[in-house]
Amino acid sequence: MAAEILKNYINGTWVTPEGVDCLDVENPSTGGTIARVPLSGEADVEAAVCAAREAFPAWRDTPVSRRASYFYPLLDLLRENEERLVRTLVAEMGKSIPDAQAEMKRMTENIQVACGMPILQQGDKAVGSAAGIDGEVIRLPLGVFGLIAPFNFPAMVPFWFVPYALATGNTYIVKPSELVPCTMHVITELIDRIGLPPGVFNMIHGGQTAGQAMLGNPGIKGISFVGSSRVCRKVATRCAETNKRCQAMGSAKNHLVVMPDANMDEAVRNMITSCFGCAGQRCMAASAIVCVGEMVEKEVLARLVPAARDVVVADPLDPAVADQPVVVGPVISREAKERILGLIEDGLSEGATLALDGRDIAPPNPGGHYIGPTVLTDVRPGMKVHRTEIFGPVIVVLKVDSLEEAIAVVNEHEYGNGASIYTRSGYYARRFKLETEAGMIGINVGIPAPVAYLPFGGMKSSQFADIKTQGKAAVNFFTEDKIVTERYWPEEF
Ligand code: NAD
Repeated sequence: MAAEILKNYINGTWVTPEGVDCLDVENPSTGGTIARVPLSGEADVEAAVCAAREAFPAWRDTPVSRRASYFYPLLDLLRENEERLVRTLVAEMGKSIPDAQAEMKRMTENIQVACGMPILQQGDKAVGSAAGIDGEVIRLPLGVFGLIAPFNFPAMVPFWFVPYALATGNTYIVKPSELVPCTMHVITELIDRIGLPPGVFNMIHGGQTAGQAMLGNPGIKGISFVGSSRVCRKVATRCAETNKRCQAMGSAKNHLVVMPDANMDEAVRNMITSCFGCAGQRCMAASAIVCVGEMVEKEVLARLVPAARDVVVADPLDPAVADQPVVVGPVISREAKERILGLIEDGLSEGATLALDGRDIAPPNPGGHYIGPTVLTDVRPGMKVHRTEIFGPVIVVLKVDSLEEAIAVVNEHEYGNGASIYTRSGYYARRFKLETEAGMIGINVGIPAPVAYLPFGGMKSSQFADIKTQGKAAVNFFTEDKIVTERYWPEEF
């Protein structure tokens, strides 16, 4: 049977874009085709922008409590359809079922936070800011916003933005990654059932061309981008040129620093999940272990290498692995696998040693894109495997002599998304959190991804533009502060 061609969702209607190419959506676990995604063009984006612009005035004027109330039935629908969503997500992205369930949980948390918009969007008032004069800050929506999304969190990343944008009174266009369009397609089917006015929420399928059309469209007031720093930089530049608001969250190389006083057994157990969960394709995945001292390196490797060897590599939909705590599924594509294998070769040619080689594991399915957990030691700062975001189940281990040196390794790296320290010492932990240049810090936590009511975002080349997402940061992004200064003179009636 031919694979279904996905449709765009514009103005409350499913639309087949005309005259555009389609791309096969692959199940990376098997290499099979699960759908076809249209690569929408400028005209499709323009249609969505027109619908969203038309819907904006009435949506903006809808009371905030009413806007937020649309999310209650959505939460019910997401719960009722969780199994279908999880299976769709796993089939197109390749992460394990527990990882997909955790993603759905974080997605719904963001919706729940946005349900508090009647309070979150409140402004401030300074009564008597001068004699007889009051000052007031009101937070108003701006118009049409859009998201250009990455492949690795097809459900969660859109919900870092959509609920906040809509609840604050903006209208929205989501462009999922062309590699994983099916999850957002199913979610949009559920959004279609909650009765939002047409045009308030829209979804456009496509790749770079659709993304560029969004960036170039003057009807869009702001863009949220999540993806590689290579594209991030272009997005931020384009948004500055066209005076769009911009959030742009990019690539990462997250370091885990291990101090001599760390609880080694717990630390390594924790590392395994962080490094190899989602096959290392989380923006918060740890990918560089920095051991402080030779003894620490020995102790870490003595635990880490056997534990990494024991991690199951499998098709995540195989019922036999349902109870495994960590399952390494495939990486997203053949190209991704080739890129990762090339980086391992680069590491070896620069003098790194393979303490664990995942290159030749027997693939659970012949057509899938699998690499087993891989550990590279003897890595020095600045080597290509350290400089580059590998985005696969490959970690590099470095050795330094002090906490200062460890912090310098993290700080001199181009990226600064997350960084963690394993220690029992409050002194080391405090210095690490104050001195490390990364947006999200973990203390004995390998994936320091903040919950939905705290801000999420990195530093340096992991984040272009200056505003994080989630919680109050998202409310700030999606609202314009207008400052009113008012005075009334006495009247004789
Ligand atoms: P990517 O940059 O290849 O693509 C992201 C999106 O940009 C896709 O929707 C794609 O169609 C679109 N796009 C590509 N080129 C474009 C262009 N020139 N103009 C406009 N749009 C364009 O990223 P990816 O491979 O899908 O995602 C993986 C990357 O995302 C990793 O680097 C990862 O670290 C990063 N990521 C970061 C965070 C974070 O919070 N910092 C979260 C998730 C993923």
